Amino acid sequence: MPGRKFADGEVVMGRWPGSVLYYEVQVTSYDDVAHLYTVKYKDGTELALKESDIRSQSSFKHRKSQSSSSSPSRRSSSRSRSRSRSPGRPARGRRRSASQSREHKDDKKKIIQETSLALAVLVLFKPSENNTKRYNGEPESTEKNDTSCIILEQKLKPDLEIKRVLEHYSLRSRKDDKKTEEIFSEKKTFLAVKPVEKVPSKTKELEFGGRIGTFILILLLPATVFYLLLMCKQDDPSLLNFPSLPALESLWEWRVFGVFLLWFFLQAMFYLLPIGKVVEGLPLSNGRKLQYRINGCYAFLLTAAAIGALLYFQFELHYLYDHFMQFAVSAAAFSLALSIYLYVRSLKAPEEDLAPGGNSGYFIYDFFTGHELNPRIGSFDLKYFCELRPGLIGWLVINLAMLLAEMKIHNLSMPSLSMILVNSFQLLYVVDALWNEEAILTTMDITHDGFGFMLAFGDLVWVPFVYSLQAFYLVGHPTTITWPVAAAITVLNCVGYYIFRSANSQKNNFRRNPADPKLANLKFIPTATGKGLLVTGWWGFVRHPNYLGDIIMALAWSLPCGFNHILPYFYVIYFICLLVHREARDEHHCKQKYGLAWERYCQRVPYRIFPYIY
Ligand code: NDP
Repeated sequence: MPGRKFADGEVVMGRWPGSVLYYEVQVTSYDDVAHLYTVKYKDGTELALKESDIRSQSSFKHRKSQSSSSSPSRRSSSRSRSRSRSPGRPARGRRRSASQSREHKDDKKKIIQETSLALAVLVLFKPSENNTKRYNGEPESTEKNDTSCIILEQKLKPDLEIKRVLEHYSLRSRKDDKKTEEIFSEKKTFLAVKPVEKVPSKTKELEFGGRIGTFILILLLPATVFYLLLMCKQDDPSLLNFPSLPALESLWEWRVFGVFLLWFFLQAMFYLLPIGKVVEGLPLSNGRKLQYRINGCYAFLLTAAAIGALLYFQFELHYLYDHFMQFAVSAAAFSLALSIYLYVRSLKAPEEDLAPGGNSGYFIYDFFTGHELNPRIGSFDLKYFCELRPGLIGWLVINLAMLLAEMKIHNLSMPSLSMILVNSFQLLYVVDALWNEEAILTTMDITHDGFGFMLAFGDLVWVPFVYSLQAFYLVGHPTTITWPVAAAITVLNCVGYYIFRSANSQKNNFRRNPADPKLANLKFIPTATGKGLLVTGWWGFVRHPNYLGDIIMALAWSLPCGFNHILPYFYVIYFICLLVHREARDEHHCKQKYGLAWERYCQRVPYRIFPYIY
């Protein structure tokens, strides 16, 4: 095999990035373009390594037998010899003898620095089951009897100072620690370790049911939207009362499509305005960081002013309600055209720009999940723009149109209490998303998923036309609720919002600046990648507290529609399914990223979304 030394499936020794430690790994694939091997560590962590960071197992076994044959007195010297021979060790230490104590001292200090990552690795990489079960959040000082860790053992055994460093990676509160300064300086070393260069290789594990599943979803998602909208228009929207299909020609109107285009490009223009700060996203696989303009709130205010002006000049927003299905069809046609454009342009994109999850080589799968991670036209980021602007702000405009339609159709001087609640709750949700626009940069949609049919259709059709279902339902099916019921639903929404917002902010702040003094009370598990996993606060309550808050809010949005039909509860039912599936996807990615540290986190925080239930 020219250009490649190790075969798929071969068990070799892989260097842990940023350290001199070698662990037993299995080669899972090889990227011919980037010349990188994807290897899997025993704990499940997957990394991409260069060939120079991989050794055959035989060279390590040979060294081990040499040292074990030594007498105890010779063992200590042979230990220093074998340590000096360990692969990747800096040349300076090679000729060290016991008499060179000053150098030894310096070296010890250096070892502490060099292996600050390795120490965390040691804490994390104790694969013996007993150790894992014994784990209670306190530092452990035992070392494992595993040949894969032999080099690390040799470095650590005599060094008491290192034990001290190990203790610094414990889960105690950072605030209470006397040696805060030292911890932070060492933590900085730990965090400063350059993230492993991971160039996307072919996506092997297909999600969403693979090719067949994604093909079905491409057909099923639009069909579901049209079914829901047709149902909502019926006097009796019972599930078994299947709606009759409208004539095809009634679904399309060029004028409606023109209004949709106008809306889309108006939002694009707002996005391009040079107002609002510019921030950097998380590092990409090649270490590069993209820049994003944060001006969603300005876009919202400008849109509100434009809608206000339209209403002032007697424009009937009711038009949106009357042509709702045609708008949905226009948005769907546009999102399909956009997805085709995105896929075609992704074929020319460099390998490093492809999405980790959408590079399977199967057309239908990559088309659905999104082939290119961050497609841009100049500085115009298509995915980032679509995530928050046309669909999300559009959702609010639709809600407002439904509110006005309700007043007009039922001849009301005030909207119903149910309609006010639905509009207010969802307004809060969208304004919150725009206010915290920066937080979207750390979500899966931006960092992992490509931009393809899934997100294009989701952002432009599913969000505005399905999420507004409760308001649409209330226009045709007036529901009366009492003030105490309204108050109880409002409390429920506030509880959900509080959990959702504080959990998201806690994680986002921690990811942005782990040393933030405001987070000093929080404990975390360090991981070998340099990022920590919070185990107290919201993220110690359940593993996805933000999903819990989101689901509680979803329920509060449906309750004002009463209990006559299940249709307005579609959102909360679908949302639970979506977030349970999303949570499973995220867990899978986190297990790959963090290996044993993730398992420990799961032991500490056993419930995924619903405490004591799931
Ligand atoms: P999250 O914001 O929940 O992010 C998950 C990531 O958080 C993980 O991949 C991991 O990434 C990090 N993480 C996990 N556990 C910990 C921990 N203990 N400590 C620190 N970091 C941790 O994911 P989503 O992008 O799915 O959701 C973002 C928000 O959007 C949520 O509130 C969700 O409810 C909402 N949402 C709304 C939808 C809607 O249609 N209304 C649809 C989807 C989501 P890493 O370690 O790499 O940082």
